[in-house]
Amino acid sequence: MLSVVFYILLFVYAIIIGSFLNVCILRIPLKETIVSKRSHCMKCGHQLAWYDLFPLFSYIFLRGKCRYCKAKISVQYPVIEFTNGALAVLCFMFGDFWPHEIDAIIRLDIFIYSTMVLLLSAVLCSVLIVITLIDWRTFEIPLGANIVILILGLIRLVWNLIVYGKDGNWLEYIIGFFVVSVPLAIIYYISKGRAIGGGDVKLMAAAGLFLGWKLALIALIAGCLYGSIIHIIRMKVSGEGKQLAMGPYLSAGIVTALWFGKYIVEWYSGFFK
Ligand SMILES: [Zn+2]
Repeated sequence: MLSVVFYILLFVYAIIIGSFLNVCILRIPLKETIVSKRSHCMKCGHQLAWYDLFPLFSYIFLRGKCRYCKAKISVQYPVIEFTNGALAVLCFMFGDFWPHEIDAIIRLDIFIYSTMVLLLSAVLCSVLIVITLIDWRTFEIPLGANIVILILGLIRLVWNLIVYGKDGNWLEYIIGFFVVSVPLAIIYYISKGRAIGGGDVKLMAAAGLFLGWKLALIALIAGCLYGSIIHIIRMKVSGEGKQLAMGPYLSAGIVTALWFGKYIVEWYSGFFK
């Protein structure tokens, strides 16, 4: 029962964050400020009241139209809000938020740390939504988004050191920063940026610090797999052979590693026992 209440609250909180993500997706490519300026209708410019901004529900109540000029509101808004809510809830579900291990219950600092990691994972997913949408449209990953992910990784690293000390797995995270990004950076320089974008390299460095080297490798493999499958389908369907934005696929790979990485690592290391 407690868990149901928790997940509902988490979902509501995350869809509110989701409406902020919509603002980021819209304004960052235009180099507009993402704070301070009030939201307004894209068509008539009318400033939106707080009750117009309530995520998901306002879209449903207004039936997808602006209250003032009746212009259609893009379905992207509620979709992003819902996606962010769902990803946050899934982060906590796949992360076994209700601890099963006895020492996680006894040691409060470990419980707080693992909760913190899940919270940071949810924030990471939010940033990846922004990266996915912007890279898909502009073929560019905003530097600010990568910096936010780097900060998430640093917070995790420092917190890990506080809880587990130098005997913990801090080295795994530091190696994670380099394990994928260095080979990608070499490809970047050899191909002069044609094979892969600089933003992708930075994304995998920052995300690698957060994930640790094992999950960073899984994220890369999963991302390349998604990228090649979907790219082949797109080329077959629409004959598109043009530029490929890697950001969305790498983001999907990172989320895959975040949720299922530890099971993949367990399964894989089972071969060597
Ligand atoms: Zn309007």
